[in-house]
Amino acid sequence: MEDKTDLMQKIVSLCKRRGFVFPGSEIYGGFAGFWDYGHYGLMLKQNIKNLWWQKFVRGREDLFGIDSAIILNPKVWETSGHVSGFSDPTQDGGRFNTMFQTSVGAGEDAVTSYLRPETAQGIFANFKNYLDAFSPALPFGIAQIGKAFRNEISPRDFIFRTREFEQMEIEYFIKEKNWQEFFEEWRKEMKGWIENIGVDPARLHELEVPDKERAHYSKRTIDFEFDFPFGRKELCGLAYRTDFDLKSHMEASSADLSYFDEETKEKFVPHCIEPSFGLDRLVLALLVSAYDEDEMNGEKRIVLRLKPEIAPVQIAVFPLLRNKPQLVEKARGIYQKLKANSSKLTDIFDDNGNIGKRYRRQDEIGTPFCVTIDFQTLEDDTVTIRDRDTGEQERVLSGEILQFTKLG
Ligand code: ATP
Repeated sequence: MEDKTDLMQKIVSLCKRRGFVFPGSEIYGGFAGFWDYGHYGLMLKQNIKNLWWQKFVRGREDLFGIDSAIILNPKVWETSGHVSGFSDPTQDGGRFNTMFQTSVGAGEDAVTSYLRPETAQGIFANFKNYLDAFSPALPFGIAQIGKAFRNEISPRDFIFRTREFEQMEIEYFIKEKNWQEFFEEWRKEMKGWIENIGVDPARLHELEVPDKERAHYSKRTIDFEFDFPFGRKELCGLAYRTDFDLKSHMEASSADLSYFDEETKEKFVPHCIEPSFGLDRLVLALLVSAYDEDEMNGEKRIVLRLKPEIAPVQIAVFPLLRNKPQLVEKARGIYQKLKANSSKLTDIFDDNGNIGKRYRRQDEIGTPFCVTIDFQTLEDDTVTIRDRDTGEQERVLSGEILQFTKLG
């Protein structure tokens, strides 16, 4: 794994071979900056999203969720500064606005709007609705998971820089005087969660973004960077957006976006801290962290050492031989029972190829446990459970698989 280009190629190839990520529109020669997630990539993404939602929304009292529209009134993007300022330099010295334009409506009524380049503005545009509907007390946050689009001038590095991607963002509203305290709290929360899902801490770094390089709305930004095989690059970001967005929208829309503090009887526009996570970059960072090659029983293998809660599949169930109906029937029964007993778990049934091939396949997907049903199972209802990382096998009662693997 010394050769860095080589590692990227290996990951891209594994993703295609095993159904994680395919080049977008591939049968037409692809389409730069767009990728399609296959079944296992999708499950990996879903696991990350669920853990994120569980940690930052369901697991807290002060967070609300939202699913706002992807296309907003163009005035939102004029006010937020994106129409005038969301641009990248081009090679000939000009600037190119990276928002995707689209035409909404027909004929003379058509207006130009944009595919959102960040999910955050849908949150700010709904701030008043949240005050009215939920009467939240500060501090509180609004979280959104959804697609964002940027017409990147040169999309590259697999799913790192794409033109369509997914963000998980929180706008956490506070009183101005508390911003440092909450910035620090979110910095720790972000780092803790990123490491907890299995991103290699040795590759994770925090970068204090200097004044000149910060976005126009931010007074302080920390980028969480990751050592990708192609260099140290931004994985996620934490920004103190002040009251810039709410104030701008309040002025431009003339809606009252101020908050009334019941205790102090003050009326003011809240400030906000923004933890912003890029889902596709997290997927890539997890794959880079988990990818390994070793030797097991004298054979070389590729293995994804993903945490069980992140892995696309947690348990693979095999009948030792596919041509023995009794074994297949018994294995199917155990597989169905696992499915019925845990809604959190993904199990698959696999009787394709010999057992060695099935192990290799599951190792490449990152499946932590393989359960094999053999002739002894028919006698005493025990199965073997093989551990992905050690290759060790243990016999346990089929009814105790969830307990043994701690997946129940
Ligand atoms: P970069 O400097 O790499 O272009 P950015 O600073 O423009 O990123 P932000 O505007 O802070 O990114 O967006 C928040 C998050 O959205 C990023 O931390 C990243 O995870 C994700 N993201 C941004 N642009 C892309 C992209 N083109 N492809 C995939 N993810 C992206």
